[in-house]
Amino acid sequence: MYSAAPRPGPRECRSAGALAFPLPKDLPISRRRQIYEGTAKSLYEGPEPGTIIQYFKDDATAFNAQKKGTIQGKGVINNRISEHVFVRLAHIGIPTHFIRRLNMREQLVRQVEIIPLEVVVRNVAAGSISKRLGIEEGEPLPHTLIEYYFKSDELQDPMVAEEHIACFGWANNEEMQDIAAMAIRVNDFMCGMFAAIGIRLVDFKLEFGRIWDGDYARVILADEISPDNCRLWDMTSGEKLDKDRFRRDLGGEEEAYQEVARRLGLLNEDNGPGEVFDLSAHRTKLRGTPKPKK
Ligand code: 5GP
Repeated sequence: MYSAAPRPGPRECRSAGALAFPLPKDLPISRRRQIYEGTAKSLYEGPEPGTIIQYFKDDATAFNAQKKGTIQGKGVINNRISEHVFVRLAHIGIPTHFIRRLNMREQLVRQVEIIPLEVVVRNVAAGSISKRLGIEEGEPLPHTLIEYYFKSDELQDPMVAEEHIACFGWANNEEMQDIAAMAIRVNDFMCGMFAAIGIRLVDFKLEFGRIWDGDYARVILADEISPDNCRLWDMTSGEKLDKDRFRRDLGGEEEAYQEVARRLGLLNEDNGPGEVFDLSAHRTKLRGTPKPKK
């Protein structure tokens, strides 16, 4: 389904940051060359050419970095959740950059040439669409919407039309067809996966990248999928289990991220995030039930 036709593109970018020779496989992260430092993740050279190590941090920002903070243990949980989702997406045939999780905070991924677009998929009105179009939060949309935003911190990721994408050559038509098809399949799969654990998938953001094979480029899913870039609402209570808790000063963000991991069955595993929090105390806090008196 995802074509591998020759695509025009900045070929010189294809090996940007790639190593001319492999690094020792067990080189500690502190001695690896950092390729990129973001708020939520840092990228380091991987052990082999064409690979990268994604390091998941606890730092969080919102509103174009005007709000900064830390969500304790977030990096560990997002690493596990993202691994879980990417592995399952690969099972249904979505090509992804994920290779394997290395430890609590790191995963090995394929190096890609990032397509400078944030692809937002929406099932229910919330966040920026509610603000922009005056639609009440929680209103189901008549059908799934895909929106594109140009990745630019300076411009605050403006929304763009497919015409802009074609006009400025950020992705060609064929690539856009692949991106839209993958976004819809990811949405279908994740809606089911989260519904099965009592969570409503409101919206989420994806990023894609190109990998080259000679003159041929293929688009694959990159970045991460976690409560940092999804809106996840408890189906019964409507409680927010995602980064909106941080963005909107709702509190309980650590507990919310952990709750998602718990429902996905990702706790109580070796190196899992189970030890990061006292689950029972946080669950009580999340549900707002008073703690029993001693
Ligand atoms: P909105 O456009 O409503 O702010 O965001 C829509 C969805 O995309 C939300 O699930 C949000 O978490 C995600 N999203 C959009 N832009 C970003 C971004 O720059 N960073 C992260 N982490 N998520 C984003």
